[in-house]
Amino acid sequence: MLKRLFDRAFRRGKPAPTASAVSGSLPDDVEAKLVSIPREQHSISRRNISPNALRVLYKLRDGGFAAYLVGGAVRDLLLDGHPKDFDVATDAHPEQVKQLFRNCRLIGRRFRLAHVHFGAEIIEVATFRGTEDDGSGARELVDGRIVRDNVYGSIEEDAVRRDFTINALYYAVEDFSVRDYVGGFQDVQQRVLRLIGDPDRRFREDPVRMLRAARFSAKLGFSIDPAAVSAMGRLRQLIVGAPPARLFDESIKLFMAGHALQSFRVLRELQLLDSLLPATADAMRQDPAALVLVESALQSTDERVRAGKPVTPAFLFAALLWPAMQAAVARRVASEGLDAWLSGAQEVVSEQCARIALPKRFSLPMQEIWLLQPRLDACARKRAGRLLAHPRFRAAYDFLLFRARGDDRLNAAAEFWTGLQPGAAPDAAVRTVVATDSASSDEAAAPRKRRRRRRKPAGAKSSTTPADSAGD
Ligand code: ATP
Ligand code: MG
Repeated sequence: MLKRLFDRAFRRGKPAPTASAVSGSLPDDVEAKLVSIPREQHSISRRNISPNALRVLYKLRDGGFAAYLVGGAVRDLLLDGHPKDFDVATDAHPEQVKQLFRNCRLIGRRFRLAHVHFGAEIIEVATFRGTEDDGSGARELVDGRIVRDNVYGSIEEDAVRRDFTINALYYAVEDFSVRDYVGGFQDVQQRVLRLIGDPDRRFREDPVRMLRAARFSAKLGFSIDPAAVSAMGRLRQLIVGAPPARLFDESIKLFMAGHALQSFRVLRELQLLDSLLPATADAMRQDPAALVLVESALQSTDERVRAGKPVTPAFLFAALLWPAMQAAVARRVASEGLDAWLSGAQEVVSEQCARIALPKRFSLPMQEIWLLQPRLDACARKRAGRLLAHPRFRAAYDFLLFRARGDDRLNAAAEFWTGLQPGAAPDAAVRTVVATDSASSDEAAAPRKRRRRRRKPAGAKSSTTPADSAGD
């Protein structure tokens, strides 16, 4: 589809865009040169822009400020896609934005931003970031990484501060042109992901950009500039130092936005999986068959996202970490027997959470899915009723079906449980990335207490009510 969109947008024999040079105070390795692409030479139509974003743009302009639609929205509109959010860049300072909009909240101390609220929609308004440190302490770097930045600057500076050329395009409402300072328009046409400036320097500044490269390449089907690929080869270990909470957010964007399978493949190709899921990457090297479950779960996640169905990080991470979990159990089972499942799960979770901060409301149901597996494998008819009533049964059963795809020995167990659920079989595989919602994860956070039946004093009358025996 992207190819069709691309043809429609760019192959109409349009004249070359007109260029005019603008100088600014910029890093020495980047030259900002404005290329303005007029309305008739690009495919962005106002009809595809959120009316609220347009409202913000017009109001800023009427208030005497420069204001542009920027970043992913411009990129996606050029590709005829549907941006999921609309960001605005302006020369108004956050406090000035707040004065213009009653429905505005300022957020973030380290990166101050204005959020303009329209019901459920939020338009993010960011002041142009500058390149030079003004010495006020508004910018802070730790080991070359930017950890705080409220130094404001010009649009040229703002452009070269962004990560990829295709993410540094500005759409102007006053003349409907696209403004390009770093060659992003051409890179969109050529479907190339290119860092702005020197790749080594940009990845050192923010190693998460390597994961962003993988994500955009997977999502858009763009190739990655060879200079960026070779820089990743040298610098991929730096990802390990990124804040675990940020890596969780980035994992969600990689794996829960409809392009999980492709993201996973690109990560493996770029050898970035070790930085994100080290134990899984390691286990897959030992046992390549482990890939089958992970890939089929990711494919199913993508199908659900595209169908607008809910997906949960609990099931997603259960699949992503399953190779690590299996390896941990295998290492322990000889000495610990069935206890190996619990201690293996705890080991995998604690090691993984040091890298990606997986919140407990997801890691607990994830472990439940794992811990139910040996019980499902056993197919014990006597205990089937209790398992069927378990709040995590459906997720665990769907997980078993994925495991069975890569291991014929599990077919009997899969059939056994399928047979016990009238009407469950046909869409089970699609249902997979189960909507184990946060409500049920709360249950997981507070495991059910096993109630003891009080021994009745000899001679007392039986007074056992259904409630008394419910916990048994
Ligand atoms: P998506 O469609 O996935 O949201 P996006 O391009 O909008 O893609 P965001 O993470 O929402 O990505 O960021 C918005 C914009 O902010 C980017 O387009 C880019 O210009 C800039 N940006 C975001 N993260 C970084 C970063 N780590 N380094 C430099 N610029 C960044
Ligand atoms: Mg965005």
